[in-house]
Amino acid sequence: EPDPTLRPDPLPEDGDRALRPQTLDDFIGQEEARANLRVFIESARRRAEAMDHVLFHGPPGLGKTTLAQIMARELGVNFRMTSGPVLAKAGDLAAILTNLEARDVLFIDEIHRLNPAVEEVLYPALEDFELDLVIGEGPAARTVRIELQPFTLVGATTRLGLLTTPLRDRFGIPTRLNFYTHAELDHIVARGARLAGLESEPAGTAEIAKRARGTPRIAGRLLRRVIDFALVEGDGRLTQAIADRALTRLGVDSLGLDGADRRYLTLIAENYGGGPVGIETIAAALAEPRDALEEVIEPFLLQQGLIARTPRGRMLAHKGWSHLGLDAPKQPGQ
Ligand code: ADP
Repeated sequence: EPDPTLRPDPLPEDGDRALRPQTLDDFIGQEEARANLRVFIESARRRAEAMDHVLFHGPPGLGKTTLAQIMARELGVNFRMTSGPVLAKAGDLAAILTNLEARDVLFIDEIHRLNPAVEEVLYPALEDFELDLVIGEGPAARTVRIELQPFTLVGATTRLGLLTTPLRDRFGIPTRLNFYTHAELDHIVARGARLAGLESEPAGTAEIAKRARGTPRIAGRLLRRVIDFALVEGDGRLTQAIADRALTRLGVDSLGLDGADRRYLTLIAENYGGGPVGIETIAAALAEPRDALEEVIEPFLLQQGLIARTPRGRMLAHKGWSHLGLDAPKQPGQ
């Protein structure tokens, strides 16, 4: 069973408000997205209009929710939050939309999981700020049109490819979030350590940054675990030695891979000669849902160049073999 600490999905303990950056200036990394958002926010403010709809896409834990909250704060409007799977019926969405005030930000997480009937209601709401609701049933049924306040939808998804084209087309500002660099994560960890009142050496924060899978949410969690070790087994300071010891104990290797990542790589190496092997086969062999592999495990392995996706399936790349300490098999005829 993989340690949930090491996965980028939200956990209850992530609700540490103090750590969440509150302004675009405090938000570290995602330079391009931030620079663009700054312009669009300022323009909407000057025109006193609702900002255009924004779609954030990218792996979990990279700051989609945080950026949506920051947008609302900088626009000076309310922030309302829901998620695709929670909106079961058209009426659930209608209730939220009719309660929005002018120019509010509505954040819908996992927007690729909207029920089609709910999505249908969303189209006219996004385009014309109107709702068409069917009241009653059978011959007595009639449609009523409800005018909405202009609002900004911020959608977030880890799976851009699962969004329907009409939904995708209604976002004026599609924004991709990328994995963070070690330097950016180092900033985030150092800031977190400072907020926790911890003395840290640069090599200590750098060690966590290097092993955080390019993901601020993971960096925050690893920092909390390292703090535990620093207090109990160290002298209360975040040193490189304590960071390395804590992360090794947690099963996080030098690249930041955890047990589940290594099982994935080892399976392709040892059972399939390095691939290609289909994702369904990998999912069955690891007893992990395919979605979890595609959303959580693979993006980082691909970004690191450890695996490659080919039309015939996943393959271990050279760096994948060497990371496992194995030799890639010689291709026939080489
Ligand atoms: P997502 O919605 O993409 O899954 P979140 O916005 O919930 O990600 O961010 C996950 C965690 O990482 C939060 O605790 C947030 O405070 C932190 N975080 C995300 N981006 C940054 C950043 N750029 N700087 C500092 N902390 C960040």
